[in-house]
Amino acid sequence: MLIIRQPAEISAWAKEQAKAGRSIALVPTMGFFHEGHLSLMRMAARRADAVVVSLFVNPTQFGPQEDLAAYPRNFERDRAMAEGEGVAVLFAPDAAGMYPAGFSTTVTVSPELTDQLCGASRPGHFAGVATVVCKLFQLVRPDLAIFGEKDFQQLTVIRRMTSDLNLGVEIVSHPIVREADGLAMSSRNTYLLPQQRESALSLSRAIALARKLAAEGERSTAKLTVILRDFIHSFPETVVYYISFVHQHTLQEAAEVDADTVLALAVKIGGRVRLIDNGRVL
Ligand code: AMP
Repeated sequence: MLIIRQPAEISAWAKEQAKAGRSIALVPTMGFFHEGHLSLMRMAARRADAVVVSLFVNPTQFGPQEDLAAYPRNFERDRAMAEGEGVAVLFAPDAAGMYPAGFSTTVTVSPELTDQLCGASRPGHFAGVATVVCKLFQLVRPDLAIFGEKDFQQLTVIRRMTSDLNLGVEIVSHPIVREADGLAMSSRNTYLLPQQRESALSLSRAIALARKLAAEGERSTAKLTVILRDFIHSFPETVVYYISFVHQHTLQEAAEVDADTVLALAVKIGGRVRLIDNGRVL
């Protein structure tokens, strides 16, 4: 596995691959790999001749009060895990390489997709994501890129940007990978104290509860939201950021649950760990 740190170098490598007629799948990540990341890498390997994994804790998608400095990092462990999955290149640039002095361009996606859900409490987050993913696409020129459904709003924003800007990359989604108890895997789960683990399960259990109630005939998202909020707050140290029932493509709020409705949740645990989860209700 090659480790490439310079944007110009990955660009040259990608051109060589194209010349040789080899297809490329890109898996963008912020590192601290878990089974979710590895599943995306395996999916990438099934779909293309060469897999590039980018590892970049992108500063522009973190707000001033967020966990950029504290975000978990372990390059050696990540390197070994990616190598174990047959990844061709681990592209791990530094911030100065991605954003040299004078960098002035931002890709913004319409507020209809970016102002609600996570965007409501993370202003500028999706502009940071869209800009870095656009840069990664230009550097790696992948045939396809894999994104997890765990970051459901991110996936929608990336699909929109890729289509609007004719980036020519196939966007492939991967289902949420969960721990045996239902907790969606996340690098941020390492922040959870042992006694907060049960509270972290409030998200996946709330989705299961919504499914049960919808199957029993409750379709009003207003009523479901009240029930789910009480349910989540019955777990210690939980604060709901949002409980939203949205249309899976437009992200617009739905009044009634139907087959296109996704329930998206963000909950803060113990005053500092912000977890997200989502799922279809019907
Ligand atoms: P991150 O390193 O958290 O930015 O995640 C990198 C990619 O892995 C994103 O496309 C995420 O959506 C995806 N991902 C993270 N956790 C999971 C998970 N539990 N299941 C599926 N995909 C995931």
